[in-house]
Amino acid sequence: MSENASIETLGGIFRDNQIFALMSHVRPDGDAIGSQLGLGLALEAMGKTVHYWNDDGLPENLEFLPHSEKIARPPHEAPVVDVAIALDTATKVRLGENNLRAASRASLWVNIDHHISNPRYGDVNYVDATSPATGQIIYEIIKSLDMPLPEGSRDAIYVAVSTDTGSFQYDSTTSRTYRLAADLLDRGLAVGDINAKIYDSYPYRRIELMRTLLNTLQLSADGRVAHWDMLDATRISLGLKPEDSEGLIDLIRAIRGVQVAVFFEELPDGKIRVSMRSKDRSTNVCEIATLFGGGGHALAAGIRMAGPLEAAKEKVLAAIATAI
Ligand code: AMP
Ligand code: MN
Ligand code: MN
Repeated sequence: MSENASIETLGGIFRDNQIFALMSHVRPDGDAIGSQLGLGLALEAMGKTVHYWNDDGLPENLEFLPHSEKIARPPHEAPVVDVAIALDTATKVRLGENNLRAASRASLWVNIDHHISNPRYGDVNYVDATSPATGQIIYEIIKSLDMPLPEGSRDAIYVAVSTDTGSFQYDSTTSRTYRLAADLLDRGLAVGDINAKIYDSYPYRRIELMRTLLNTLQLSADGRVAHWDMLDATRISLGLKPEDSEGLIDLIRAIRGVQVAVFFEELPDGKIRVSMRSKDRSTNVCEIATLFGGGGHALAAGIRMAGPLEAAKEKVLAAIATAI
């Protein structure tokens, strides 16, 4: 089934089932965790039983979110689950193998996402690539179905949308996004406090990482591609966590004249994680990512590909040069 389900269909699924497993992608970001808590706490307020699973668990930078302790690594044995819901996850494999095993007894799979590359792997799909964040889709579903919106959901949805829009700055931000934010403030969201927890409480090691990355910064001869890279040895020496590099790419994306920014990261398993940002709709980084089995959005996309680092860099930079 590849057509989008109606919101009413989702409402029927929420109403007619009791046990839900909400999951999001590996290396979860604010939109992944925020969407899980945003929808899950609303379902709990309706009397439902909700599991919140992520293969990598809860990142330290999101521990401030109310009820975030509910986010757990999936159990080894698959419990009884009526409905599995994948959130903010562009492909089913990005849920991770432990999630897939834990949710294997679910009779229905729902896929709620905003990645244009999403192949609609659910039994029921709700994919809106015009939405800047899965959190905004969750908000619209909750509002349309007149579901409860507890304080925990309110804060989680704000974090989801703020982090995926670069603090309400990216091109994907719409007037609906600002109306969502206004409504959450009307509902009592402490905006200064929550922004300080997201953006003013980085660990020192993140700034040390920035120093290391800056030493690897390179700009293409025409000034249109900026890239930097990180060796796995840096992760070890600085004691980095996966979330420590999140958003740093915006620093080189912001260089005047740069059209595409790229971050190459050597992973512990020897694979290379590539993170790309475009500033210009004429260069679609999702299409470039798709060439290497990755995906994402037109202006922000990622890849996990074979190493070594230098070989991956060469291939991806060549594909970008061709695309530009
Ligand atoms: P990142 O650069 O990791 O912040 O990712 C940018 C966007 O691309 C996010 O929306 C990700 O969910 C998506 N993305 C990242 N890596 C992949 C991948 N390997 N496959 C599909 N989508 C990805
Ligand atoms: Mn995400
Ligand atoms: Mn997202």
